[in-house]
Amino acid sequence: MLKKKITIINIIIWVFLVLTVIIFNIFINQHNYEVNRINTKEKVVMLTFDDGPGLADEKILDILKSEKVKATFFQTGVNLALYNRETEIKEILNRMIKEGHALGNHSYSHQKYLFKQKLLIDELQKTNSLIKNIYQANNQVIKDADIPIRMPYLQHYQGLNYVQQKLKIPFWIRGYLGTDYEEGKTGKKTILKQYKTHLKPGIIYVAHSRDYAQFWLRDLIIWLKNQGYQFASFNKADPSYYLNYGELVN
Ligand SMILES: [Zn+2]
Repeated sequence: MLKKKITIINIIIWVFLVLTVIIFNIFINQHNYEVNRINTKEKVVMLTFDDGPGLADEKILDILKSEKVKATFFQTGVNLALYNRETEIKEILNRMIKEGHALGNHSYSHQKYLFKQKLLIDELQKTNSLIKNIYQANNQVIKDADIPIRMPYLQHYQGLNYVQQKLKIPFWIRGYLGTDYEEGKTGKKTILKQYKTHLKPGIIYVAHSRDYAQFWLRDLIIWLKNQGYQFASFNKADPSYYLNYGELVN
């Protein structure tokens, strides 16, 4: 009799735990959902470059082109606004689109937005408009829902839930961040080591549109190819589109 009671209590506890996990998952999926990788067992990585567009992208694009690799560039609005003022930036952005890379939103002014939800919403909308205009100038149409968003400094806090719901942002793109942005301190060897040691199927690598990328990017790509890896992007119109490999998950 006692044994039976214990079994029933055990079952109740298990059902309760399973339900809690399910409810918790639903909550996480609906609010403040941050993704770091593609849910896949296939050997695929995503290369992403933040803080452009800038002149450093020219060398990055040359390497990506010669290695036949597609990437995603998370741009700030302040830099995108140079499209109509600086020929070189215009050419770089047109090249990104023509060569099959994807443009993402990295805010307008690249600051910390804690307690500045209204500013963040305005900036994300403003940057998305710039991105849509640049696609349009290249005879392509992109919807807001298809523009990936990455917060500057990969910042995250509860207040982002509100912004996410308000703008119907499916998820915030994060990923593995090393210290490629401190190239002076880090150096090529360590930058490569950081990415190599964090390699796993589906990982999103965060890098930056910086001159120093020309010294390590090709080596990383060649090493990844030797490991049997392919490269995914956020370009819906390209075979490299991430959904061809799997959903994005935390
Ligand atoms: Zn940034």
